[in-house]
Amino acid sequence: MNVERHEFESSQPGTHLVILGGIHGNETCGPNALRKIISEFQSGQRRLLRGRCTIFPIANPRAYNAGTRYIEENLNRVFEVHTNPSSYERHLATEIAPWVSRADALLDIHSMQSQGDPFVFLNAPTPESQELCEALGTDWILQGWPNVYASMPELLACCTQTFADRYKIPNALVECGSHADPAADGVAYRAILGALTLYEMIKEGDAPSARDSRHLRMTDLHLRISEKDHFPKVWKNFEAFQKGEVLATRASGEEIRAERNGIMILPSPVSALGAEWFYTGHLLES
Ligand SMILES: [Zn+2]
Repeated sequence: MNVERHEFESSQPGTHLVILGGIHGNETCGPNALRKIISEFQSGQRRLLRGRCTIFPIANPRAYNAGTRYIEENLNRVFEVHTNPSSYERHLATEIAPWVSRADALLDIHSMQSQGDPFVFLNAPTPESQELCEALGTDWILQGWPNVYASMPELLACCTQTFADRYKIPNALVECGSHADPAADGVAYRAILGALTLYEMIKEGDAPSARDSRHLRMTDLHLRISEKDHFPKVWKNFEAFQKGEVLATRASGEEIRAERNGIMILPSPVSALGAEWFYTGHLLES
């Protein structure tokens, strides 16, 4: 397999940043924003001041061409080097992952099914990853992902961030808004400029303005078990709820109620059976 890859290198030493778009084929903001950056570098309109930038604009090309999330399995659950890749996505992971393990930093660009504000996933909360997350210009930074999955390793064999953390590579995954949101391309583009500016790879002044991002911690994951599992309302991502409120109802009629005040995270009314349905969490004091 030969996944499209672009290399830009400065004569000045610096950070080697790897940027991934289209890990999920139906998420077009990463590919669109990366195409723009690639053409700016190629035309000489933008110059890389130091370091090296490796860009995979469409990490899952067949899913991208088909307009689907994946072909055989979720690339962001099998992102590591496989000795005997048993699926299309495992072949992709085996080709792309070594670039991440050799890099100095990783930016992975996504969009989401839910409506709501753009945000960044902070996986292992190291100071270096936190600094990268804060440079991307979103209002929200979400952490706690590894803990939520600790009891369900079968759901999260390896995502791009888990893989990067394994090699102590600072990393951020940005969710630029809902798949169809026309603003998502701009969010993705600004996030790229934010990362490049942080590492002094482009000149200052192009970065998104500094934000006082709010930090959220996700604590609980609920899986969708039946087609008849449903939400009592259309939840927005990061919508607040009160203790005792009905968050969702199982096919059996059993209500899932909030045990404390908190925040609804990534509600996905039509997720596949056995997959992530919604998460809950709370705001962290900053
Ligand atoms: Zn995605």
